[in-house]
Amino acid sequence: MTQKLEKKYDVIIIGSGAGGGVVADILSQKGLKCLILESGAYRKAEHFNQKEKDMSAIYYNRGAVFSKNMHIALAATNAVGGSTSVYTGVSFRPPKDVLESWKTEHGLSFLSDDFVNDTLDYFDKDLSIHELPESAINQNNTYFKQAAEKLGMKVKKLKLNIDNCSGQGFCNLGCTINAKRGTLVVQLPRAIKNGAELVHHANADKIAENTVYFTVRKAKEGVFENSLESGSYVAHAHTIVLAAGVLHTPAILLRSAKLLTLKNPNIGRYLTIHPAFNLHAVNKDKISNYKGFPKAYYIDQFSDKEGYYLETSFYYPGITAKNIPCWGEQHAALMAQYDHMMSIIILSHDKALANNRITINKKGQPVIEYTVSAETKTSLVKAIRKAAEIFLEAGCIAFRVPASRQIIGLTERDRLKDLIHEKYLDFAQTPLSTAHPQGGCRMGISDKNSVVDDNGKFWGSKSIYIADASLFPTSVKVNPYETVMLLATHVANQILK
Ligand SMILES: Cc1cc2nc3c(=O)[nH]c(=O)nc-3n(C[C@H](O)[C@H](O)[C@H](O)COP(=O)(O)OP(=O)(O)OC[C@H]3O[C@@H](n4cnc5c(N)ncnc54)[C@H](O)[C@@H]3O)c2cc1C
Repeated sequence: MTQKLEKKYDVIIIGSGAGGGVVADILSQKGLKCLILESGAYRKAEHFNQKEKDMSAIYYNRGAVFSKNMHIALAATNAVGGSTSVYTGVSFRPPKDVLESWKTEHGLSFLSDDFVNDTLDYFDKDLSIHELPESAINQNNTYFKQAAEKLGMKVKKLKLNIDNCSGQGFCNLGCTINAKRGTLVVQLPRAIKNGAELVHHANADKIAENTVYFTVRKAKEGVFENSLESGSYVAHAHTIVLAAGVLHTPAILLRSAKLLTLKNPNIGRYLTIHPAFNLHAVNKDKISNYKGFPKAYYIDQFSDKEGYYLETSFYYPGITAKNIPCWGEQHAALMAQYDHMMSIIILSHDKALANNRITINKKGQPVIEYTVSAETKTSLVKAIRKAAEIFLEAGCIAFRVPASRQIIGLTERDRLKDLIHEKYLDFAQTPLSTAHPQGGCRMGISDKNSVVDDNGKFWGSKSIYIADASLFPTSVKVNPYETVMLLATHVANQILK
């Protein structure tokens, strides 16, 4: 039996990640009664134990939701705080050319310099966004910078939203000391203090105008207990905000098609994934990349012409093992040198294409339909070669990377173009990673090519808004959480109006 929540809310927010957290924060500060429904568990610093086996439970499908063709492994979390509970906190402002195209080609005229700068300046202070001090930069990062500069590349420092970080390095398994100043630590607690109610383990199944149907399941051991008994519920509010992320916001809308009696063929479409490969190489020196903050530097000089960024990175043994594309003795020999490993992540900017999309299966669960374009393949291969040059210059003696068939070492230095080649790139063998999905409910000024209007309101609806990464009309080209918060701020402001 479906129970009705008798309490009246101004706003129900579905999802408590980067987008939902910002909306809850802004609206509850203005005195609106907010109910946040979050399908994942509530974990705080004391629940994170830094063990891959246990902490992978924070992620959907233990960290790899595969696309239908198995070419993409997507990482997204199912937890209070959303993916911000495990993100690294790399903080990029949206590039100027992206904002310009969103304004001129997609009609998002609210993205004026004043709005963008004022909002992002506020986040800088609120989330303590800054560059790492030199003293906190670890060996992997130092080697990356020195080698890339010797090769004539321009290395830039990343900005991060951390405070009192002790460099434990386990950001992607949850921070045990609240050093990451993200949604879980800043916006959600403030929203709750200002009266927002958070119900976790509460999955929004379907929505209708002013209405959410949701199911609460029992919490497992090791996380906060339920705040509402298990069962089926319905709740009503003046406004419903979907912020369930790129996988689930389109899925909720598609599941609700009959209830909403609205047809919009764009739901789920124009998905971009910021395709990535995490590359690892064994250095001649022992490298304690597992200590210190994992990310300090990036290179963007190949962005305009070749379509990719390089960033430093670090992954735990399980993820590293998954990323090294070989088997048996070769794989074991490389993994045995974990304490000599350098890591670089390559991130390519993919185009927003209508056929790349989120659909739903018979059970109403999201399905990723995504084909890697020829342009992206070329860009990825160029990026892998560039990372390989850096590895070799930094003194790496052996690595196995996607788009190659053998271990590469110093003697292969002049043959990188032949050894790392598109003809060897097989996504069925080495699936792409993504932790930065974007789009699926793009914002625009016509229902012919978008899902919500430039206020974030679902076309044709009186009460439904969207405020998460699914709004992006195209890829933002950089790590996206600041842009998610920027758009969510605009949507919250429109709801207030
Ligand atoms: C490992 C990792 C590292 C990352 N590092 C960075 C980084 O350094 N810098 C950066 O800019 N970005 C980073 N990102 C990406 C960033 O975290 C996301 O872009 C951002 O969190 C997206 O915000 P969102 O609100 O769209 O979705 P999310 O933050 O994912 O939040 C969506 C929420 O909705 C909930 N939900 C889903 N379905 C339902 C439902 N039916 N009912 C109720 N709740 C539901 C989910 O459980 C989740 O909590 C990283 C992501 C990952 C996974």
